[in-house]
Amino acid sequence: MEIKKLLEESSRYIMNTYNRAPIDLRKGRGVKVWGSDGKEYLDFVGGVAVNILGHCHPKIVVAIQKQAQRLIHVSNLYHIEPQIKLARLLVEHSFADKVFFCNSGAEANEAAIKLARKYAKEHQGKDKFEIITALNSFHGRTLATLTATGQEKFQKGFEPLMPGFKYVPFNDISALKSLITQNTCAVMLEPIQGEGGVKLPDPDYFKNVRELCNKNNLLLILDEVQTGMGRTGKLFAYEHYNVTPDIMTLAKGLGSGVPIGAMLASDKVASAFVPGSHASTFGGNPLVCTASIATIETLLEDGILLDQCKRMGEYLRKELKNLQKEFPSVIIDVRGKGLLVGMELTRDCSTIVKACMEKGLLLNCTAGNVLRFTPAVIVQEKDIDHMLDILGNVLSSLS
Ligand SMILES: *Cc1c(COP(=O)(O)O)cnc(C)c1O
Repeated sequence: MEIKKLLEESSRYIMNTYNRAPIDLRKGRGVKVWGSDGKEYLDFVGGVAVNILGHCHPKIVVAIQKQAQRLIHVSNLYHIEPQIKLARLLVEHSFADKVFFCNSGAEANEAAIKLARKYAKEHQGKDKFEIITALNSFHGRTLATLTATGQEKFQKGFEPLMPGFKYVPFNDISALKSLITQNTCAVMLEPIQGEGGVKLPDPDYFKNVRELCNKNNLLLILDEVQTGMGRTGKLFAYEHYNVTPDIMTLAKGLGSGVPIGAMLASDKVASAFVPGSHASTFGGNPLVCTASIATIETLLEDGILLDQCKRMGEYLRKELKNLQKEFPSVIIDVRGKGLLVGMELTRDCSTIVKACMEKGLLLNCTAGNVLRFTPAVIVQEKDIDHMLDILGNVLSSLS
């Protein structure tokens, strides 16, 4: 279909929930994608932090092909070997003892909210249900996760919201302390606020949050949907802060693009779920789990890719800071960890994103004025240099 007709049919048949760029991507390889007109793009969006190993990584492609020939889906009424293998891999490389599988980040957070409530009610009484989350956070678009998301712009129009959520400024430990009541059961936070504009915590914030949770018998839920799976240079971002959560959620990078989410917990907390507590028809099916096993195994092979993520992240931030020196009236700040990097601007970034796209570079804008860089961990210095060339060109053409 030619692009004009495609755009017409898109607006005729697709619900209008995204402001989509007028291109149609057909093929991907590594950090590059190609449009239907054959135009090549350098991809620093990576499906918004999903394509952690780049597009169509051969190990993922082969794993999916083989599994698709063998068995795509069976019900969770039976044991599923790839699901068990994946759960074991996740447990062996994290604080957790048990895993529940679902299909997205929002679903993983829904499962976390349900588990926290059930655990607290059973162990601490029926009035323990309140969850404290952060302002400027993002936890998903279902009714409960939308309520957990501390941003009115996502909630507007969908009231009444779920009862039982309170919000505090991120990074403010005394505000958190003062909001805890006898009804509080958990604190739910992102290790780095991704959608909120790549906001990093103070170095000792999570240590203090953990201590506060311990003192008040609260569960700590970490939403690692965006920060997990090697994105920050460690498999999970909590490893940077020397704390362990009680519950952690994953999605985005977990399956290299196949829809999979996971909610992980310690044995103590996980035991609140029994048959009938929670379920998902597709959750953890053979196909997605096989893709996810291949993703983790490739990511952890020899520790090379996590190390590359860390080094490329440092290089990217250093070079973006140089760009900041060149354009101090446009760029306010450069920050991030590993390959989750934000560049805050004095202006809305949509014109820059559009101009970069025309020059063959895909960038994402979040929180209105933060350019977000989430390339695959296989990105190389030469790709970053190429990106900087285009971005520098676009910035110097702004008036
Ligand atoms: C993307 C994201 C979600 C939502 O994930 P979906 O798969 O879109 O439901 C939740 N939490 C965080 C931190 C995210 O970045």
